[in-house]
Amino acid sequence: MTVSTLPRPTVLADFRSDTVTTPTPEMRRAMAEAAVGDDVYGEDPTISELQQELARLSGFEAGLFMPSGTMTNQVAIALHTRRGEEVICAEGSHIYEWELGMMATFSGVVPRFVPAPLGVPDPEDLRLAVRRSIHQSPTGMISLENTHNKAGGTVLPLEVLAAAREVATQEGVPLHLDGARVFNAAVALNVPLKEITRHFDTVSVCLSKGLGAPVGSVLLGSAAAMKQAHRYRKMMGGGMRQAGVLAAAALVALREGPARLAEDHRRTQVLARALVEAGFDVNLAAVQTNIIYVRLPEAQTQVDAWASKGVLASALGHDSVRFVLHHQVNDAALEAAISVLTA
Ligand SMILES: *Cc1c(COP(=O)(O)O)cnc(C)c1O
Repeated sequence: MTVSTLPRPTVLADFRSDTVTTPTPEMRRAMAEAAVGDDVYGEDPTISELQQELARLSGFEAGLFMPSGTMTNQVAIALHTRRGEEVICAEGSHIYEWELGMMATFSGVVPRFVPAPLGVPDPEDLRLAVRRSIHQSPTGMISLENTHNKAGGTVLPLEVLAAAREVATQEGVPLHLDGARVFNAAVALNVPLKEITRHFDTVSVCLSKGLGAPVGSVLLGSAAAMKQAHRYRKMMGGGMRQAGVLAAAALVALREGPARLAEDHRRTQVLARALVEAGFDVNLAAVQTNIIYVRLPEAQTQVDAWASKGVLASALGHDSVRFVLHHQVNDAALEAAISVLTA
């Protein structure tokens, strides 16, 4: 992603990511009033509350709060794998594409992509990708992503999750979910979070994406796994001491954020249709939650032109622009942005 250096006018709408939201007044109040302690000693009551609440919602024994989704994913990889192994994942997965080779540098493992049209791998391809030969890198884990960011915020059907679970169990391979936007998936499928998370050994959830917290992700798993994860988190520099101030905002995001996601998804449809009507190349089948990819030449030039008129989006690669909706783009902002984008 290239960060534009052009001078910017008043921002009408910032669609670069759902990470750009700023803390709400309720979050700031909760942060000011948060009870805190040293979380490396496990003594921060607000962090413990956040971990327990998310563990309860997702059906896991325990959770561990970390500064980023990259860290929760990479700690999961460290937990599940040994050096020289492979991580099977859907092509375009964030854990490899956008995590700076960390699986290689920290855990000493390499990715093996399986095809994933619209972000959804065929469970049989996951099975065929499992390797055991003495001449090959053994499989350490399988990782799925829901929603799948690079495929367009697409949702994995529950049958695919169940089939992937079966493969993982039969093959004796741990199954991880990069659920940075798993709440978006749950809202899109209209199911409780547990219906998705129950298939996995570990799940990573971002509070700082659509839910709107300023900072933080939680890794979920068994109590034993989270005890081990605590050590890897510390190794990566993620032992954060009195970070209950962050967890307090994340708790507000967790309690109030999910209910707002359906609105983000509705506005995403409005924007996608407006873009298609204006002649832009959008695969509407991939627009399932809060993300839209537009294929166009000279992506950065177009993004800079829109930015000069107050509408921010991300150029990803030469020919792709990404729009991400979040709760701080309301209907009025959306309407203003559509006028600019379709002018
Ligand atoms: C954003 C994101 C993450 C984590 O990103 P951080 O910026 O490290 O918090 C992980 N997976 C997916 C799919 C994401 O979109």
